[in-house]
Amino acid sequence: MGRTFFITTLGCPKNAADSRQMRRSLLREGYEPAESPYEADYHLINSCSFIQSAREETIQTVLEGADIKKEHSDQKLVLVGCFAQRYEAAVREELPEVDLSFGTGLYHRTGELLSEKFGRPAIHDPLEPSVFSGMEFDGQPYAPVKLSEGCDRKCAFCAIPSFRGAFRSRELAEILQEIRDLTEEGVREVCLVSQDTNAFGGSHQAIIDAISAMHDIPDLHWIRLLYMYPDARTRRFLEAWDPVQLPRLVPYLESPVQHASSRILKAMNRAGDRQSFRDLFQLAREKVPGLEIRTSLLLGFPGEKSEDIDEVHAFLDDCRPEKLALFAYSPEEGTSGFSLPGMPAEENITDRINDVRQHHLSILKDIHLARQDQIFECMVDEISEDGMVVRRKQDAPEVDEVIHIDLETQNSDAGLEPGDLVKVKVTGFFEYDMAGELVTEDDL
Ligand code: SF4
Repeated sequence: MGRTFFITTLGCPKNAADSRQMRRSLLREGYEPAESPYEADYHLINSCSFIQSAREETIQTVLEGADIKKEHSDQKLVLVGCFAQRYEAAVREELPEVDLSFGTGLYHRTGELLSEKFGRPAIHDPLEPSVFSGMEFDGQPYAPVKLSEGCDRKCAFCAIPSFRGAFRSRELAEILQEIRDLTEEGVREVCLVSQDTNAFGGSHQAIIDAISAMHDIPDLHWIRLLYMYPDARTRRFLEAWDPVQLPRLVPYLESPVQHASSRILKAMNRAGDRQSFRDLFQLAREKVPGLEIRTSLLLGFPGEKSEDIDEVHAFLDDCRPEKLALFAYSPEEGTSGFSLPGMPAEENITDRINDVRQHHLSILKDIHLARQDQIFECMVDEISEDGMVVRRKQDAPEVDEVIHIDLETQNSDAGLEPGDLVKVKVTGFFEYDMAGELVTEDDL
């Protein structure tokens, strides 16, 4: 099954917030946004049943969705939200064009529910496994900014080098100008992306110098580095990272290991092993107080056996990454892995991914408990009538945890706007996201 999705949102502003939660869950699970329902593998309708006209609008939208589905025979139509909850039996019996429906309260599990029902999204041409590939600037206070193009590595599962070409860094002056332009449009955080970030400028010092120059841009609060390949270059960068000198570089390391079994890493033509990943992540945590780690794992590579998955579980226990993306391998034409024999059966891959996910969720629960009552500096991502969504420095936009603040329990939102920085106390947590309250100087 494909991996692109489009969400049609009906109803009130609350539904818009719920759709954003669905989007985060889908991105986390490896799905990618499509520009329109016509290009999507999954068309999700977030429904409303508040009044008669809203119910009619939902039915009309489902019927229109069914017409779109006719033109896209593999597409799945998914009905979510109030209407799906209230009229569960009627949806099953009278709207056969709906392939899956679920009610409110499960928005945060949308990605998993789709994977459970239709199979996990396979990596497809021409993608490398990254949860950030769908990020784009769309008026939010954060934006991706490319540091480079292409890649010189030859990971056995990835077709990117074959069509994006050799690695080349962008000119720093051009990058700085793009960031200045973005800050004029209200962007307060840039996420520095590329296929291979730690190769930028040919040395770790070039990255430090670039980030240092970004510190001179007024109104840019946070700088986030994404996709740091877990090798000696990233180690050298971490050794040189002085958080006092680079206060706007957020305490966050995104470093995709892709596997933890030395045998499979070798077959994937990837660097590192369990021990080197442990050392790298330990160094990051020692150098940068409060740093959190996101990594990804690609399971189901040819030759993978249950012993290799034992290594993955041991890696999770060793390294305890706060955030984890899980991908299922699928052979990609034009890659060296394409013709390798010994691919595990699809149901084995799904079971392995589910087990690893459960393991990670149990680790995440401990991590959440430790965050309870702590105060974090956060960026305001969204403000609506029902509340505010803020994000810690340790959380990347769109895929990591956010903190929901119920404005009814607060005296006021103090005239805040997206992109502002606030202090927030964590008061509770859900599976991934958290609840919190604004903290004022008087509370400290
Ligand atoms: S580092 Fe590997 S996975 Fe990433 S773009 Fe290069 S070849 Fe693909």
